[in-house]
Amino acid sequence: MRFIPQGVNPENLARTQLEGLRWTVRHACENSVFYRRLLEKNNIGPDDIRSLDDLQHLPLTDKQDLQAGYPFPLRSAPFEDLVRIHASSGTTGKRKVLCYTQKDIDIWADMFARCYELAGLTPDDRVQIAVGYGLWTAGAGFQAGCERFGALAVPVGPANADMHCELMVDMESTVFCSTASMALLMAEEIDRRKLRSRIKIRKIIMGAERCSEAMRQRIGQLMGVEHIHDIYGMTELYGPGTGIDCRCHSGIHYWADRFIFEIIDPRTLKPAAPGTLGELVVTTLCKEGSPLIRYRTHDLTRILEGDCDCGVGFPRHDRIMGRTDDMFIYRAVNIYPSQIDHVLSTIEGVGSEYQIHLAHGADGRDMMTVKVERADNVSGDEDERLAQAVSAEIRRKILVRCRVQVMDSGSLPRTERKSRRVFDSRNHGN
Ligand code: ZN
Repeated sequence: MRFIPQGVNPENLARTQLEGLRWTVRHACENSVFYRRLLEKNNIGPDDIRSLDDLQHLPLTDKQDLQAGYPFPLRSAPFEDLVRIHASSGTTGKRKVLCYTQKDIDIWADMFARCYELAGLTPDDRVQIAVGYGLWTAGAGFQAGCERFGALAVPVGPANADMHCELMVDMESTVFCSTASMALLMAEEIDRRKLRSRIKIRKIIMGAERCSEAMRQRIGQLMGVEHIHDIYGMTELYGPGTGIDCRCHSGIHYWADRFIFEIIDPRTLKPAAPGTLGELVVTTLCKEGSPLIRYRTHDLTRILEGDCDCGVGFPRHDRIMGRTDDMFIYRAVNIYPSQIDHVLSTIEGVGSEYQIHLAHGADGRDMMTVKVERADNVSGDEDERLAQAVSAEIRRKILVRCRVQVMDSGSLPRTERKSRRVFDSRNHGN
């Protein structure tokens, strides 16, 4: 391995993390008005960080802190040291703008090169990049990582299928990097144009979007690709490239010598029990331009315990299961729509669309009704059996009872944007 450090273990990682944490708190406190005020308000300073356990005494930060500090929130380096900004799209409120020093850019490229290495690329690979360039971090990250790694970048961006197909054939690209929907679109185009024998793609790297197992299988089959890797990252934390799954595909290895991942219970904001699902909170260890201290990502995942068969010592987190904002409480159980989604994806004969309806039942208890569609090729005679299978599986996996209503295929509304899944008519606050 040229990029992934060898001999990494929990002991030496903890040492690196403590050193980095102390550096970050001091750096932020000395160079950013926002962090200095925040730490003062919480009565904690650089000298109070003596062990990694002190991390949980530091205050949490959130996206409002970035928006409030627009245009240069969290900036902790003088402008003369900054070499670039990136920003996330501002669908609600102001864009989140993050500053980078040259060292930040180098570390990011290095983390990304590790990702390509873990995905099994070699310098002979030709990497066709189909994600956006510009303010967004995606294109810049995939490209810089590719060059750092030493493979050949084919920087196409999110162009049309014609251009992607043409370049994929002519450049003999071996790796395709895109969102899951773009990968599906390309897989279907390649199939439709009968190009499969003329392309040389052997790996796909997908980022930024949750992808069902069925979708993943279809992409792999249509493109004739065995390994599809999930890359993780967010603009606030450099960009994509903070972790990727290895050839074992059993969780995402992340670069714990560059940042600390904590999992908290999004309701109590206390650390979640080891191995349980919760909100990912991140603290950077060497980021100069815009360091993060206990930044709430609102992404849901869990830290996976035990060693991976690949032998790489870096820890792993699970795939991203959704967003904390989507959580609802039913009969004292925290439930995320993605958990229902996951259960449905394991039951043959059920379509991909669903709705969750919450109401007070006749007996005063909360009642959950899950509306699902039967799949295209399934007859209405199967409804009773399907409903029972769904409710039994929800009871087994999520530990709650619910009603299931099976509907005609295509009868639930579709939108281009994210569909509304949860309809809650209960009175809140009692
Ligand atoms: Zn592994």
